[in-house]
Amino acid sequence: MARYIFVTGGVVSSLGKGLSSASLAYLLKSQGYKVRLRKMDPYLNIDPGTMSPFQHGEVFVTDDGAETDLDLGHYERFTNVSAKKTDNITTGKIYNDILKKERKGDYLGKTVQVIPHVTDRIKEFIKSDITNEDFVICEIGGTVGDIESLPFLEAIRQFSNDNKTNKSLFIHLTLVPYLKSSDEIKTKPTQHSVKELRSIGIQPDIIICRCERSIPVSQKKKISLFCNVSIQHVIETVDVKTIYEAPLSFFNQKLDKQVLKFFDLKPKKIVDLKPWKKITNILLKNKQKVNIAVVGKYVDLKDAYKSLDEALTHGGIENNVDVNLVRIESDKLNKINIKKELKNSSGLLIPGGFGQRGTLGKINSINYARIHKIPFFGICFGMQMAVIEFAKNVLKIKNAGSTELDKKCFPIIGLINEWNKNGRLMKGTESDLGGTMRLGSYNAKLRHNSLVRKIYKTSNIDERHRHRYEVNVNLRKRFENKGLIFSGMSPDNKLPEIVELKDHPWFVGVQFHPEFKSRPLTPHPLFSSFIKAAKLRK
Ligand code: GLN
Repeated sequence: MARYIFVTGGVVSSLGKGLSSASLAYLLKSQGYKVRLRKMDPYLNIDPGTMSPFQHGEVFVTDDGAETDLDLGHYERFTNVSAKKTDNITTGKIYNDILKKERKGDYLGKTVQVIPHVTDRIKEFIKSDITNEDFVICEIGGTVGDIESLPFLEAIRQFSNDNKTNKSLFIHLTLVPYLKSSDEIKTKPTQHSVKELRSIGIQPDIIICRCERSIPVSQKKKISLFCNVSIQHVIETVDVKTIYEAPLSFFNQKLDKQVLKFFDLKPKKIVDLKPWKKITNILLKNKQKVNIAVVGKYVDLKDAYKSLDEALTHGGIENNVDVNLVRIESDKLNKINIKKELKNSSGLLIPGGFGQRGTLGKINSINYARIHKIPFFGICFGMQMAVIEFAKNVLKIKNAGSTELDKKCFPIIGLINEWNKNGRLMKGTESDLGGTMRLGSYNAKLRHNSLVRKIYKTSNIDERHRHRYEVNVNLRKRFENKGLIFSGMSPDNKLPEIVELKDHPWFVGVQFHPEFKSRPLTPHPLFSSFIKAAKLRK
């Protein structure tokens, strides 16, 4: 029978609930337990797919094609358990389901209300699609006290009450600030946050205190006393230099031990922390740096390319180098300043993206990397831009473009049905933008003797997709005659998945998002190979 752990946050947002949940999940998993992680988001969007990265950070895509919160990326990176569609829910999705049922007449005669209808639906989600998991860790987005998260908190309170024989564990993560002026650690915000939680009927069992410096025993005692938890259940999490230190830090604080004790369980295996110690050492002690230029639209926002940044770090771990990201706003790049902007970088990466703004800067920088033989990695939109650059400057198709950006262009990139009228269509529409892209895991076959075939060491791959437009396969011969090889194709040969340039040290564009499958303990081969090429250029 699955045991449920609910993780809430207090005082301020961005304290690292996702990382704490993921670290705890790793520790439990490595002690022989099967763990599942889930996220409940209080906003009204049905999923984050239609939100700008400026609003919400990266959209993380699962194998089964869900557009989800970026915390699911942390979950996967720490536990190596692939998340599913059923692991992320939003208020919007809950209401959407309920309102559809209401229109069908499923509630005929009744008043549809937050309690019990919304809370019941949340409870259904918590229990849904669980098989033989030992632990289900559910993170509740937002901060206690927000109006939006109230139905979720009410639902988990009810859930714990409904399942008294299988008790649930409540973990509350709060901020314990240090005040420089008085040289003191303050527990009051935590006390208030727990008071707020208790006012809705939830007594936390464990309090995780995020702090800048270690909390003295006297202050821990205070938290224990005022918040009604034992002192062993006051766990501190002092800021770490790399997120991959988090499992080590929570293990030292005995979080996993206290959780198992709460459920009267013993470890089935000894925790293996060696891999985390190894990568933390590499990350903290590496002297050699490799600069990678990332040219995109959302470079100012730290979380916009979360999985990508992590995957590049993983590539660095594999090559024993520190990857230094040089984030360049694509809008600012033009033919004149490009050399200056890119001259200190040993590799160029163009990430996924949407829309016209900044495309010229991307194309110009790809042109520079192609001609000056700088390792180049184009991901999704980045690949599409690389193909357009090649079409314009090598194939001399002046108005080469993407119909996403210009309906009158020569469609090098377009909706598949724009050139494949008699073929099998698997495209969504442009009018309904939510969840209609080519999403999730798809198979591709790799060309014999290609660079990617050597990198992957296999001829068949599965990678996650999130795009609506495709490279025009009808132009394949023209591209290949001039050296841009379509080295990865969909199994039916209709959709170009990978392009690579002959006579270039490393020039690869992929239509999918390999960053979603990179793990710190098993870096993605494309990122390892890209960083290796950049390291060689240094
Ligand atoms: N905008 C492009 C498309 O929809 C690329 C999407 C992406 O980079 N994820 O095809």
